[in-house]
Amino acid sequence: EGLSLMTLAEAYQRITDKRTANELIIDKLGKRDWSVNTSQTSALVRGASLGLQLGSKSLDIKPLHSAILAAMRIGVGAGMRLMGRAFVLGENIKNAQKRASKLESQGYTFSYDMLGEAAYTQADADRYFDSYCNALLALIEQSKASQIEKNPGISIKLSALHPRYDLFNENEAVAQLSERMLSLCSLAKQHNIGLNIDAEECARLEISLDIIRNLIEAPELAGWDGLGIVVQAYNRKAYRVLDQLYAWAECSNRKLMVRLVKGAYWDTEIKLAQEQGLDQFPVFTAKHHTDISYLACARKLVRYGDRLYPQFATHNAQTATCVLNWAKEAGIAFEMQRLHGMGEAMHQQLLNKYQIGCRIYAPVGTHKDLLAYLVRRLLENGANSSFVSQLADETIPAPQVVANPVNQPLIERAVKSGVEIFADRCNSRGFDLGEQADVNALLASRSRFMQTTWGEMGDVSVTTPYSLELVGHYQTTDLSSIDKLFHQAKVAQTAWAREPFKGQLLRQIADLYERDTPELLALLAKEAGKTLADAINDIREAVDFLRYYANESDKLEKQIEARGVAVCISPWNFPLAIFTGQIAASVGAGNAVLAKPAEQTSLGERKAIELWQEAGMPTDLVQLVLGTGAQQGNALVSHRDVNAVIFTG
Ligand code: FAD
Repeated sequence: EGLSLMTLAEAYQRITDKRTANELIIDKLGKRDWSVNTSQTSALVRGASLGLQLGSKSLDIKPLHSAILAAMRIGVGAGMRLMGRAFVLGENIKNAQKRASKLESQGYTFSYDMLGEAAYTQADADRYFDSYCNALLALIEQSKASQIEKNPGISIKLSALHPRYDLFNENEAVAQLSERMLSLCSLAKQHNIGLNIDAEECARLEISLDIIRNLIEAPELAGWDGLGIVVQAYNRKAYRVLDQLYAWAECSNRKLMVRLVKGAYWDTEIKLAQEQGLDQFPVFTAKHHTDISYLACARKLVRYGDRLYPQFATHNAQTATCVLNWAKEAGIAFEMQRLHGMGEAMHQQLLNKYQIGCRIYAPVGTHKDLLAYLVRRLLENGANSSFVSQLADETIPAPQVVANPVNQPLIERAVKSGVEIFADRCNSRGFDLGEQADVNALLASRSRFMQTTWGEMGDVSVTTPYSLELVGHYQTTDLSSIDKLFHQAKVAQTAWAREPFKGQLLRQIADLYERDTPELLALLAKEAGKTLADAINDIREAVDFLRYYANESDKLEKQIEARGVAVCISPWNFPLAIFTGQIAASVGAGNAVLAKPAEQTSLGERKAIELWQEAGMPTDLVQLVLGTGAQQGNALVSHRDVNAVIFTG
């Protein structure tokens, strides 16, 4: 039910037509159990549950009346807007400031986050940049305190300010983002406003640190203590990042603000690392390990209090109590922080009872830019392990909710790694493209082949699609030889169908693809114009196909009869993966193959077939037919001896 609500919240605001909205509502709200244990939940949740139960029941009335659907749409729209409003302070900075003023009069300060992240175009990045400038200008009036910590601030996501903020574009992104950030920081400095750089995906940590270092060392910003950096305790590197920040601050004789959070992208990090086939995660995989890391980082921050101003951002009372005690004991300046819409009761106590300064992180924007933020909040509030959700669950005894994480046993393997996710086969080897050292090693191994020419002879010269530089040659298959190829394939197939080691052969080929990854990367880059990440994905998918069909082949062994000779026609966009998958499936089921790859990418496929032969595949079993779709392709599919055609366009 939680997942249904989340997907509804995520998707509903983007739907523009009634029919799709109806279908989504029926799909997400119908046939679910929306009841809650009424003794254990708040009036708000009980009300929501009742509304959802009524809604869900009315969807059972058949035929569904359009008035019911219209009412449902209005209700769901209002509910989703309400959900957004719970986490967003205002649609624009002026509204947000107005809504903030009541809490400011109680002693809270704010850090405004102009919603928007992961800009896809320069126009988006420019729009977000302007909205940060406007937000800073709007804050001038309120930023009159001489101590910068007392003034409101803003929080910025670097991914909002550059459409290609990643390690592959490091030089350009670092230079351009440093320049943009410098102008925002200069504006903030001029008006004594704090500016904080939010932490995003772990793969962006290194590149973000390059930008942060430039800002710390920028002479224009000397004397300004308002540069803030977020450190995510769930990142295994967090503890060392604090040392790095302290060292830079000391070298440049600067003070920095450091907001310590646990990290909001946990699910994404886990899925990405699994999908990339990595044997490690960049984040801790057990909740209490992150809690312990947070406490360790907090202790370090307290020790570094002369240069780093700690901003402890948490809604967890156990965590907050620990850091509060340590910071008070050390007598350092610090503040606590919470997100708008979360942790109100605890922070109210911190402020009223302990007179600890509290800053509220306040997102500002319209629903168009809200989705990514909202999904993170819904995940955080919905996770069983999170403090806020445990606190709301009266079946969990209080001592358990605030248990000291240090006393809990360490867990060796809380989540399956990317290498282990398939129960019946080894995952294809992955590369951590968030690690500069790994990327450099991969690029160096690929560079050994970047000057190679594949094939000296042939009537077709292949050039790079981006610079028309020569990649190699191949010879078009003579149409008059096709009858003979079919005949050879049929002979080879008769023996192959009885061969018991088909699966084993496919696994060996997979290993050879992995062995020759550097050369395949170069071929894919030069012939198909693939970026490093796309080329890796193509190779990994090909390897995965081979291992998958190897297993399928083992299962099929005695049950099926092969068809005979299959014609496989593959496209240029996933030259290795689709080509390999088609052939592996056919060969694994006991067939022979005549394979015609796209004419644009035939060199890579020729290299692949060399690997098949190296693994021991009979030469006549899979033969390449090179040329165009109109000629060689047509000749193959219309041939009288063809038994099956696999065509992916
Ligand atoms: P808790 O319930 O104690 O901790 C929940 C957290 O534990 C999860 O968010 C996750 O980090 C971690 N966790 C959950 N399950 C596991 C698991 N199985 N293994 C390991 N760890 C796990 N987040 C960012 O990423 N970047 C930011 O820039 C950022 N800015 C913020 C600013 C403020 C002012 C605040 C309050 C939060 C910010 N956050 C940011 C969000 C923050 O990361 C989450 O709100 C925070 O993790 C919740 O922690 P908690 O101590 O309140 O709750």
